[in-house]
Order: sequence, then structure tokens, then C-alpha cells
Amino acid sequence: GSSSSASTVRQVKLERESELRIEVANDSPLRLRVLNGTAEIFGTELPPQIWLSFPPRLKFAVFTWYGATIELDGSTETDYTADETPMISYVNVHAILDGRRNRAKASSSDASNASQAPRVIVVGPTDSGKSTLSRMLLSWAAKQGWKPTFVDLDIGQGSITIPGCIAATPIEMPIDPVEGIPLDMPLVYFYGHTNPSNNVELYKVLVKELSQMLERQFAGNAESRAAGMVINTMGWIEGVGYELLLHAIDTFNVNVVLVLGQEKLCSMLRDVLKNKPIVDVVKLQRSGGVVSRNAKFRQKARSYRIREYFYGLANDLSPHSNIANFSDLSIYRIGGGPQAPRSALPIGAEPAADPTRLVPVNINQDLLHLVLAVSFAKEPEEIISSNVAGFIYITDIDIQRKKITYLAPSAGELPSKYLIVGTLTWLET
Ligand code: ATP
Repeated sequence: GSSSSASTVRQVKLERESELRIEVANDSPLRLRVLNGTAEIFGTELPPQIWLSFPPRLKFAVFTWYGATIELDGSTETDYTADETPMISYVNVHAILDGRRNRAKASSSDASNASQAPRVIVVGPTDSGKSTLSRMLLSWAAKQGWKPTFVDLDIGQGSITIPGCIAATPIEMPIDPVEGIPLDMPLVYFYGHTNPSNNVELYKVLVKELSQMLERQFAGNAESRAAGMVINTMGWIEGVGYELLLHAIDTFNVNVVLVLGQEKLCSMLRDVLKNKPIVDVVKLQRSGGVVSRNAKFRQKARSYRIREYFYGLANDLSPHSNIANFSDLSIYRIGGGPQAPRSALPIGAEPAADPTRLVPVNINQDLLHLVLAVSFAKEPEEIISSNVAGFIYITDIDIQRKKITYLAPSAGELPSKYLIVGTLTWLET
């Protein structure tokens, strides 16, 4: 049950194959440790005896395969024990993927057999536990020494970097239950919006760029190729959302589709993929522990994510406020923009905004409070196909003096003068 009195240490005894589901309080962290037995959080085993501190609002489960006693210190929004979980079916999927990794590794000299490496995509409606299942599969694989690649195509609630991006990163160790995925070396493409319908074509182009970059990396790294990838997706599964799932399955040469908690989506995918015998479509149960999040919560979560980029999870980073001249920066928007005048078109033709056209942006007050990406491009023409180095946040525009003030994770010059702007905003609080 919930309790509001902090610093009341209590114990919870977990039977084998059960879990303790926790929502940390909104305003204070929770301390937790494994007193005896063994337990894991989303696939990562917890160290025995050691107290861990979980930040406010985090929602998670401590699962045990063989039984454990957990000690809690602090208040929670909710905590309860559940003995019905889909964990056995999830770990069975892991075992099958592991077998495929071994076969891919054994035959990595033979390119056709190497295609057995598991390329897994996790699909399902919002709040079906996609990110959580992706995380478990990655952590279990990493525990066995594999370095699978995590690809996150969720521009709303992604786990690799800030919202508005698609990204990939190798997972070299089980994912830390508190810190999440280390931000040190992700491959990030900036889409610039948190909704794919803003520019569906651009989203597809970036997914394609990311996949091609990963193919190049796999070509030079048999170990990483054999470990395969786990791809997390958005909860948008109807209409264009469905089309984007098919696009991702095709683009990444997916061979395992895991469908969480949706009969209809599963049968639609089975039907459309039946001509591709190498693709297995597997239906999995949604965990009863997955917490539903409304639009307001999601918006807040995005905002916290951006804050975390600049300030760190525990306010442990100190971003720098920098000032640049307008002339030092080249800012671009992708898509839309001024269209060709009707008079310049053949009679009867409608002017269409090219969704992947690069449009130079004039610096003015409209940029205030926007989050921009710093491109690795060396020429404007390279911007769409380039990944990004990081992000800045515009805090002041001085039109008179032609100066722009921005927050960056560190001091010093930006790695490039080419910046990309979309509709991603943030209000620092
Ligand atoms: P979206 O489509 O919005 O990205 P999703 O399908 O990826 O959602 P998750 O992010 O995996 O869903 O889960 C939603 C929330 O529920 C997360 O905060 C996650 O930590 C929590 N959660 C998942 N499984 C459990 C569980 N067994 N017990 C408690 N909390 C859980």
C-alpha cells in the first residue's frame, strides 16, 4: 500500500517468479536493496545488500526467479506484489534469440548464414511494455557477453537520447536500473518533432539513414553483427503508424517481430509478412504491471528527458550558457518552407512542399525556447544524411546586437555551425 511517512524501512518477501511493482513518490526518492536471494529489474540483476536510490516518479518492478527479500526505505505512490507475470515467455524468447546469435557467430565467415543474427522489432500499442521488453532482451543478452545494438525509433518516449530523435547504441553491459542507457556513444538522427505525422517522409528518410549506417558498422564488426539488434517502436499502430512499422521491418531486414498484447496487429502482420518465411511473428502477453501514461504525463516525461540531457539525472551536470553571433551559426529546417509560386508552375499543377527540402532559417524571436540539434555535416547538403553531435537550447535572442544565447552541455565552441531546428520546445523549470 502507499505510505507518505518517509524513512520507514520495511521488508517484502517475494516468492519465486513473482515481482514487486513500484511507483516512486512524486517528490522524494526511494531506497531499495536485496536483503537475501536474487532479484532483477527489467533484466539487470541487483547487487546483493547494496542500497540503490530510485528517483521520484520512476515506475519499475523487482522480479525474482528463485525468491528474494527486498528492503524498502522511503515513500511510494504504490507498491504491490504480483505473482502473475509474462516473464517466462519473455525469457523463452531470449533463449531462442541466444541460439540464433550462437549460430550466426559460428558461421560469421559465411555471409548468407550470418543473416541468422536476430534482428528483433518490438511492436504494440502505447503502454504495452515495448521499451521494457526491449530492455530485458538487451540486458539478458549483455549478461551473456553479447553486445547487441539497441535501436530506438520512438520519437516520443525514447530511451537513448532526447525526444524528437531516432537513435542506436551498442549495449555492452546490462542496463543500469537507475541510470538507464549510458549516453556516451549513441548514433543519433534528429527528426525535430515528437509526432511522426509532422513529416512522415523525413521520418522514413532518417530511419533509412540510420539503418544504412548500422549496416556499414556491422560489415566491419562480425561480433556486433552476430549479436543482432533489438528495435523499439512507437505505440502508433494504425494507418500511417502501421505503414511506418512495415517500413521499419523492411528497412532493418527484421527477422523476428514481437507483438505485445494486440491480437489484431499480430494477425495483420502475419498476413502481410507471410511471403517472407524468414520473418517470425510472435505474439506475447502484455504485463499487468505496465503503467498507463496520459498525454500530460508523456509531455512531462519529455520535458524531464531534455532537462536530464543538460543537467544530468541527479542534477550532477552543469551546462554552459554560451553566446554566439548570428553570423557564426547556420540554422536549417527540413521540409515545408516557402513553396514555388503558383505562377512558376505548369498550369493545373499544385505547389507541393518538398518534405526533405533544406530551408535556411532566419534568426529571430521564433527560435526562443527551441531545442536545436548540432549536425555533424560539413556542408549544408549533408545535413539530412548526417547524424548529430548533440543539442543546444536557445535562451535569448538579441536582434539589435545580433547575438544568440544558448545552453549547451559544455563550454567551448560547437562541433559544427550547422544547426537543425524543428518544433521541439522546452521550458526550463
Ligand atoms: P510507449 O509506447 O509509450 O513507449 P511502452 O509500450 O514502451 O510505452 P513501457 O515504457 O515499457 O511501455 O512501460 C510503461 C511504463 O510502465 C514504464 O514506466 C515502465 O517502467 C513501467 N512498467 C513496465 N513493466 C512494469 C512492471 N512489470 N511493473 C511496474 N512497472 C512497469
